Amino acid sequence: MCQRCVREEYPDRESLCVDQGSYMINFLKCFECGSQDLKMANRSCTEAEDEEVIHYQHICVFCEHLVAEHEHTFKVDGEFQVYEMSCLLCGSADDQRSIMPIDPRGPVM
Ligand SMILES: [Zn+2]
Ligand SMILES: [Zn+2]
Ligand SMILES: [Zn+2]
Repeated sequence: MCQRCVREEYPDRESLCVDQGSYMINFLKCFECGSQDLKMANRSCTEAEDEEVIHYQHICVFCEHLVAEHEHTFKVDGEFQVYEMSCLLCGSADDQRSIMPIDPRGPVM
C-alpha cells in the first residue's frame, strides 16, 4: 500500500462498489517513476459457500510499483445481498440489497 501515490486514502464512495477498474481520479502519479498509468494485476476470486471475494492489485504500468490492493466482497446475509469494497485508491463503500424482488411497476395506491 502506498499513500504517496493517491490524493486521498480510502475515499468514501458511499454505496458504489466496483469489482473492476481503477478510480483514476484519485490517482496522483507513481511516486517511484512519475507515471500516470495504472494496470491491474494478480486478480483472484475466492468463492465460499455464501461469500465471494475478488481481490486485485493496482500497479504502475512502467515500474510495477504497488499502489493499492483492491478487495470486493459479496455475501448473502439473511434476506440481504451485501456488497463491500475496500481499496486505498478506489475507496470504501458498502451496499445492501434485499433478495426479495421489488417490482418497480407494482401497484401504487
Ligand atoms: Zn506509491
Ligand atoms: Zn512507476
Ligand atoms: Zn481499487
